[in-house]
Order: sequence, then C-alpha cells, then structure tokens
Amino acid sequence: MQTQEQKDLIQNAIEQAKLHGILKYLTEGELTHAPFSLSPYTMTESVFEEMAELTVPFSELMIRVSRNTDFLAHHLEPIAAIDPFLKMLLDCRSKEITQSKQLLVHRNDFFIANVKQYNDKQNSPTANKITEGAVLRQVELNTVSASFPFLMTRLNQLHKNLFEQNKLPEVIQNNPLDAVVDAFAHAVKNYGISDCVMLVIVQPDEKNIFDQLGLEQHLSVKYRIATVRKTLTEIHTDGKLRQGNLVVDGKTVAVTYYRAGYTPDDFPAQEAFKGRQLIEASSTIQVPDLAMQLSGMKKIQQVLTKKEVLADFVSAEISGRFLKTFAKMHTLDEIFNTSEGEVSAAEWLSKHADDYVLKPQREGGGNNYFGSDILKLLPSIKKEEQKAYVLMEKIQAVPHSSLQVVNGQAETLNCVSEIGRFGICFAENGEVKNNLDAGYLVRTKAKNVNEGGVCAGFACLNTIARFD
Ligand code: ADP
Ligand code: MG
Repeated sequence: MQTQEQKDLIQNAIEQAKLHGILKYLTEGELTHAPFSLSPYTMTESVFEEMAELTVPFSELMIRVSRNTDFLAHHLEPIAAIDPFLKMLLDCRSKEITQSKQLLVHRNDFFIANVKQYNDKQNSPTANKITEGAVLRQVELNTVSASFPFLMTRLNQLHKNLFEQNKLPEVIQNNPLDAVVDAFAHAVKNYGISDCVMLVIVQPDEKNIFDQLGLEQHLSVKYRIATVRKTLTEIHTDGKLRQGNLVVDGKTVAVTYYRAGYTPDDFPAQEAFKGRQLIEASSTIQVPDLAMQLSGMKKIQQVLTKKEVLADFVSAEISGRFLKTFAKMHTLDEIFNTSEGEVSAAEWLSKHADDYVLKPQREGGGNNYFGSDILKLLPSIKKEEQKAYVLMEKIQAVPHSSLQVVNGQAETLNCVSEIGRFGICFAENGEVKNNLDAGYLVRTKAKNVNEGGVCAGFACLNTIARFD
C-alpha cells in the first residue's frame, strides 16, 4: 500500500517527467512518460569507478578492431554465408576508402553480479575461504544507436529536483547529453566544409523519438547545427553524391548519425540497402561507420573474451581488467569440459539451460533466447547454422527493491539494474584524437524479466545514488 505522501510524490514525478520531455509513444499512438524508477540504484564507489575507467580503453579496443578488416572478415564472413542480413551489411562495404574520420558514440552495458570467490592467497585473513563479492559483468557494448543520452540527462535533473525537495536521496551528477552533442558539433566542424547539417537515420515508426528530438534540439540551440531526419529508404530517393560529399535535400551532410540500420526491419526493400550503400560511398563522418557497427557484433564480443585474441588489441594490464568483467561465452559447436567429462553444448544445455542466454547476430532487443526457450530452439538449428549464435553465461545480477513508474502506474518490485557507460571517441585514420567517458545510464527491471528495453516497456530509466 502506498501512503498519501508516496502517492503525491509519484503524481508529482509523473507531471515533472512530462514537463522535462521524458516521453514515449504507446503502440496505439498515445503519448505517455517513459518508464522511470523512483529508487536510485545503490552501488559501491570502487565498482562505479572501475566501470567509468574502463570506458576509454574499451573505445580504443573498438577502434582497433574496426580497423582490422581481415579480423572482422575472418569471423563474420562464414556467418554471412548463412545469414542474409549480415551478408547484406557486409555487401555495403565500399571498395575504396572514402572516409578518414571516425566518431564512436557507444554504450557499454554491465550488471553487478554476486560471485562466490575462492581465496587461495596464503597469509590472508580469508585464505582458503569462499567469499561473496560484487563484481562487474559486461552484457554487451553497443556501437550503434546507443540510446538515451537525452532522456537519461533529463531524469537526472528530475531526480535532482526531488532530492532538493527532500523526497529522494542525492544522485550522482550525470549529463551524457552535453558530451554527445559536443562530440557531434566537433565532428561537424572537423568535416572541412561550412554550413553542413547532421543527418539522423531513423526507423520508419520510431517509438523512442523524444530521446532523438531532444538531442537534435540541444545541437541546434547550443551550436546552431541543423539536423535532417530520414529513413534509409528515403536516402535512396533524396540523397546524392556530389564531389564525394553526401547531399540530402540540397544540404551537405557532415555527420550521419544512425538511430536505425541495425535490424532487418530497417531494410524493408532493396532501396534501403541502396541508401545505406550511398552513405557508405560518401565521405560523411558516420556514427558509427560500418566497420565499427560490425565490431559491435555478438560474435566479435565472443571471440574477444579469449585472452589470446584480446592480446592482439590491448596491453596485458588492460586485458586483465577487461577479462575480469567478461561473462563466459561459447559457441554451439564447442565441447564443454565439465566435472562429468567432455560433453557437447546441446548435452550441457539440456541440464543447464537456465544458466545461459543464446544470442543471434542481432541488435535492438527481443532477439535472444533464455532458459527453456533455448532448448525449444536448439533442435531447429542446423549444423551449418550453429556458428550464427553465441552462447553466454547468464549473469546473476544482485537484486534490489525498486519503485517503478510505468504509464502512470507505480509499483514496488524486486528488480535488477543494468548500468551502461557512454563512451565517445574521435579518430582520424585509426589514430585516436579524443577519447572520453560521457556518463551513465541505468535501466531497472523486474528480476524475472529477461529483456531490457525501456521503450518496449520492460525496464525503467534510473539514476545512481551518491555514495555515503
Ligand atoms: P541487444 O542487442 O538485443 O540489446 P543484449 O545482449 O544487450 O542484446 O541483450 C538484451 C538484454 O538481455 C540485456 O539488456 C539484458 O537485460 C539481457 N541479457 C543479455 N545478456 C545477458 C546475460 N548474459 N545475462 C543476463 N541477462 C542478459
Ligand atoms: Mg543491449
């Protein structure tokens, strides 16, 4: 039961959320506030700092991977042979190099998991004891369409207001919006031609439009840079190449920002593919470019969890820190070395499916298989199709209670929180010029829900409480 005081807080927060532009469309087209939490997430300062410190080296890793075309081709081409969507993406690669500048705006998502650790260090008070500790576990790094810089910044403002009214604990200052917009403006200025625009590639029926419009508005107010919104299909009809530049509706495009183009739905017909190819053939600065999008694929994530592969891209010190955050990842044709001897993935999963997530090469939520759904799917996967999937250990996030506000209704639930760090990295011909951590995102969802989408209604945006 909610007290009158709680009811007033919830009502007031909902009105403020709408006032701040924390909005979304329901499927029926009705406008409501985006789901948000009124229980800022609590974590330890050391884990928070480690997460923030890892952003810059993770960006460097992604830049290096994206420059290694042979590495990407080696791991992705075999999958493209059986996955038409991946094949289409690879076919967008242009023969000549037309771009020298890369801007990466990514979000690196983690859970904080409780893990039992065996301490075999002699001379330690806990020697030979099993201790439980909170550790970081990476879910995935999103190189394309890392969403929520606007809505998240606004929720921080809203939670700050409620703190100042003594209604919420103090939260950690966070403004990914400014950092992302500054990076776009810097890239537009760096393009070398004056009076250019930023092109935003959008989905035909976008639900998370306010996060995008808020960002575009900020770019316009702060830097007087205009944006043009188009689907890939529209680029085919409205775009052209002029002396290597992408020109849309008569305006030269300095930067192309993808908030679409990562799912087959964004390519309803051949025209969209041609639109994507046109952008690729121009010298516009793409956020991200195709190689960077491919570097964020789940197959690449899986191979990078191998120490010997990672060693080709980062120092031993950084590799050690990355490896500590990686959940175990496997392929479906792998032999599992278990206490019961060597078994196939299928055999192992028949008893342990609840401990895994099966992922195809897709982005954007709703594509993964959890627990018993893995077992239902497995028999239909042909041998040659196995390589299109990666198998990831399910991360057991530390649960906590949270007051969740979804479409005007509030409820306290047993939840888990996924924390993302925004990273921004600008590079020229593979050389990093600017690299920074740009703040955080928290998505809090009921513990028994698998997927994490905010606009799909699964998760609530949240902030992090200040450390004591
Ligand atoms: P997508 O590209 O669809 O966003 P993700 O790998 O981020 O794919 O998975 C979607 C959601 O599924 C995540 O936000 C998270 O809530 C959940 N999830 C993914 N991997 C794991 C995992 N290993 N353990 C627990 N939950 C996971
Ligand atoms: Mg994700």
